[in-house]
Amino acid sequence: NIKEPESKCEFQGKGYFSSRSAFLTGRSRPFHYRIQQLQSLRRFVLERKSDFAAALQKDLGKSEHGMELFELLGVEREIMLAIDELPKWAAPKPVEKNLLTIMDEVYVQPEPLGVVLIIGAWNYPLAVTLQPLIGAIAAGNAAVIKPSELSSHTAKVMEDLSLYLDKEMYHVVTGGVTESQELLKQRFDHIFYTGNSMVGKLVMQAASCHLTPVTLELGGKSPCYIDKDCDITIACRRITWGKYLNCGQTCIAPDYILCEPSIQDRLLEEIRKSIKEFYTDDPKSFTDYGRIVNQRHFQRLMALLKGSTVAIGGNGDESERYIEPTVLRDVNPEAKVMQEEIFGPILPVLTVSGADEAISFINSREKPLVLYIFSSNKKLIKRMIEETSSGGVLANDCLVHSTVSALPFGGVGNSGMGSYHGKYTFDQLSHLRSCLIRKLATEKANMMRYPPHTFEKIRW
Ligand code: NAD
Repeated sequence: NIKEPESKCEFQGKGYFSSRSAFLTGRSRPFHYRIQQLQSLRRFVLERKSDFAAALQKDLGKSEHGMELFELLGVEREIMLAIDELPKWAAPKPVEKNLLTIMDEVYVQPEPLGVVLIIGAWNYPLAVTLQPLIGAIAAGNAAVIKPSELSSHTAKVMEDLSLYLDKEMYHVVTGGVTESQELLKQRFDHIFYTGNSMVGKLVMQAASCHLTPVTLELGGKSPCYIDKDCDITIACRRITWGKYLNCGQTCIAPDYILCEPSIQDRLLEEIRKSIKEFYTDDPKSFTDYGRIVNQRHFQRLMALLKGSTVAIGGNGDESERYIEPTVLRDVNPEAKVMQEEIFGPILPVLTVSGADEAISFINSREKPLVLYIFSSNKKLIKRMIEETSSGGVLANDCLVHSTVSALPFGGVGNSGMGSYHGKYTFDQLSHLRSCLIRKLATEKANMMRYPPHTFEKIRW
């Protein structure tokens, strides 16, 4: 059950209700309004870049370069795409007619849903709140944005969104779980939640009270199968990059490796080399290696090491929330580290007898957000795609599928529902309205459907 909030929230009766009444004025519907708001959103992101950089440094130890490359670039690209494509996305789409409707106008008209609630996570706090917002604005909706309290410095900068956007239509509500729960009691027309699966269930439960549709962008344990027939040096370099970026706090980071025992030692050696190549011998003092978001997650991660064999790293410094890039070897599928999404710089390696066992292993667990396959054998890649299920699949690299706006980004089963990026965000936050317009003329053609149903009418 959603717990009762401990105190009344400041926003109550202000933020949300002004979004509703602003939406009902209809001013968010014309294209020029949506485009102007998207341009202002772009200005916000560009003008406040240094504030965001400072905030992300405090929240997650992110470097400015990392922020630009892995958050801002994507947000900016999606804004430009929405501005360019909006007339096409929002246009009525004529559909094929049947004999009964041959003279009519039959089309699908995307229309805004109303007020969208966007609840974000802390790991890429700009991307997970602003990318859904881009689609919400493009689709003509009002929105309430609730950034994560865990990345509190970034959330504070986000509050200034009201200086750039229509402040009655778009609201940022900062605060913690209490505020999220209070928001979830209100009636929205769509809830777009990014975060862990446990809270995802609470969000869905709360949404059901108002029959509000939800998009749940969740996480899970994304497996990474490495076939012995592949370039192991390149595979390990790419995996090391995908795993330790943002200190492993990436929803699509490879969670664990599956490989045959014969290549395990080689893999560990190559990952060790890549860690050194990227972060030197001392990642702790290296700018591109981040920090764990808070003490609670630091302790959770260090506890995951218990009972497994550390092959690389394994040490942490709580005062700095620093954990070494860590790899575990010969991990038991029942080990603690295999029971939950890791979401930190710990990479377990599990051995399997080959692709068959890897497929059964993957299928015996919850459906992941991504399946990574490293192999030079295209047939094997296709077979693994065919015989498993996941939100997305990426062969021979990590993370890059999320940069393709033409691919839907989202989970399946325990890793989420609904998808976004590019036009998918627009579609997700629109209602596809079926429209049929006919004339009041040619009534004779309709006579046979009216009672009484006589043979004379059919012969007509
Ligand atoms: P979090 O703790 O910041 O929670 C996310 C939001 O949920 C916050 O705004 C918070 O206020 C709210 N919340 C927390 N507890 C709540 C409750 N009991 N009731 C109502 N609202 C509540 O973030 P997190 O969950 O730690 O984020 C990490 C998770 O997010 C990981 O599982 C990761 O894989 C996933 N994630 C997924 C994606 C994706 O695109 N699929 C992207 C980023 C992160």
